[in-house]
Amino acid sequence: MVHSIPPQGDVDGSIPLVIVQGFLGTSGAWIWGNFESYLNRGLDKRNWRRTIFVSIGPVSSLHDRACELYYALVGGTVDYGKEHSAMHRHARYGRKILQGDYPEWSPARPLHFLGHSMGGQTIIKLQWLLKQGHFGPRAHPRMVLSVSAISAPFRGTQSVYVLGMCVDAAPAVRPFSVGFTIGKSMHLLSFLSPLLPQAFDLHGDSRSLTYRDISFSSLLKQLWNKSDWAEGRDNAAFDVTFLAVDERESQGEGDLEPKTYYQSYSVCMTQRYSENSRTHTPSMRHITSPILCSLARMTGAFDFSTLQPPPSFLRQQNTESGARVIDSESILGEEYWANDGVVPSFSQWHPLPCCRTRCQHFTRASQATVAKSNDVHHLSPQPGIWYVNQEEDAHHHMSIVPWWTGSDRQQRFWVELGRWLDAIEENRQDCEG
Ligand SMILES: [Zn+2]
Ligand SMILES: [Zn+2]
Repeated sequence: MVHSIPPQGDVDGSIPLVIVQGFLGTSGAWIWGNFESYLNRGLDKRNWRRTIFVSIGPVSSLHDRACELYYALVGGTVDYGKEHSAMHRHARYGRKILQGDYPEWSPARPLHFLGHSMGGQTIIKLQWLLKQGHFGPRAHPRMVLSVSAISAPFRGTQSVYVLGMCVDAAPAVRPFSVGFTIGKSMHLLSFLSPLLPQAFDLHGDSRSLTYRDISFSSLLKQLWNKSDWAEGRDNAAFDVTFLAVDERESQGEGDLEPKTYYQSYSVCMTQRYSENSRTHTPSMRHITSPILCSLARMTGAFDFSTLQPPPSFLRQQNTESGARVIDSESILGEEYWANDGVVPSFSQWHPLPCCRTRCQHFTRASQATVAKSNDVHHLSPQPGIWYVNQEEDAHHHMSIVPWWTGSDRQQRFWVELGRWLDAIEENRQDCEG
């Protein structure tokens, strides 16, 4: 059995780190900047940990992205699965990856993963598919040695409704909303994609949307009428609705794998609207980011009671109180409105509610807490539990990654991550060696 195989790292020593980008993330390494010198602080460049940026669909569903992620690592033809492709009416097979980034990936040679925004959820979906046997009997969820997530909408986000998803008819999108415009633009880009640079690669191979596959009149039909892709249940936008999250969680998706190490970073750019209010508004220091600020304001004031069907976190409260709650503000904590401009805080913690998983939360309100949390989980992490780093100081969705600014916060993050990954490897050697 795989248990008997001694743990191994990359050929050069430490285990590589796979970086999974979020929604619309196609840049690869170049905007992530000089992070590697902090991740590997104190090490000679020849001993740096290898980082792998994978190219996956920037607007695709979690399922499709997870499949693309798997084959990007091991190589071969992307297989979305017979049942899934039939249900969502796209081809079962996607592109052929001639050379995977880590063909030796196996339970004996696992990988570390880091996900920003939807990248975090994509890793969880990948681990779920590994568990379900989607990639065959040789694949195992233990191939994911660690998960580090930053600003991941594990439990959905109301910003998707703010941007255009219908509150009572998801996955339908409100005409001429921001979401509607993004969906139509994606069709246009897909149509022209053979002519466009790599940054516009939408990985729509299984959907036959390019000018080589469909006529111009078919494109117009998708633009004018309902879009099969953007207004279906198999895309990124639907996957971050509370409806989709409830469906996944009810099937056990997001359950912890006992041998995997988990941590998340939850950041917040808002504060209470008033002393007695649980709704939030962006703090003034973010006035220089007007788009995130206005999204943060609407996300921070969202009325959850407009959602149909009501999300599970609201239904639970309704059941307990014995009545349908009209005013969500009277029963939910402020973490449902506190947000980083895109994702509410409660959703950035981990999949499933705290009562249905194992978690330990660290609030970075004081240096003493930071020191304590370093002792507990950065130096001696345990598998099968979520370590949640809740950042009290104001940061937004892009503060830590992906845009490299060289800020103290970014430098500290990468140094800490390097230490955490080293500690996991030491811990693993002790346990299995
Ligand atoms: Zn699909
Ligand atoms: Zn928790």
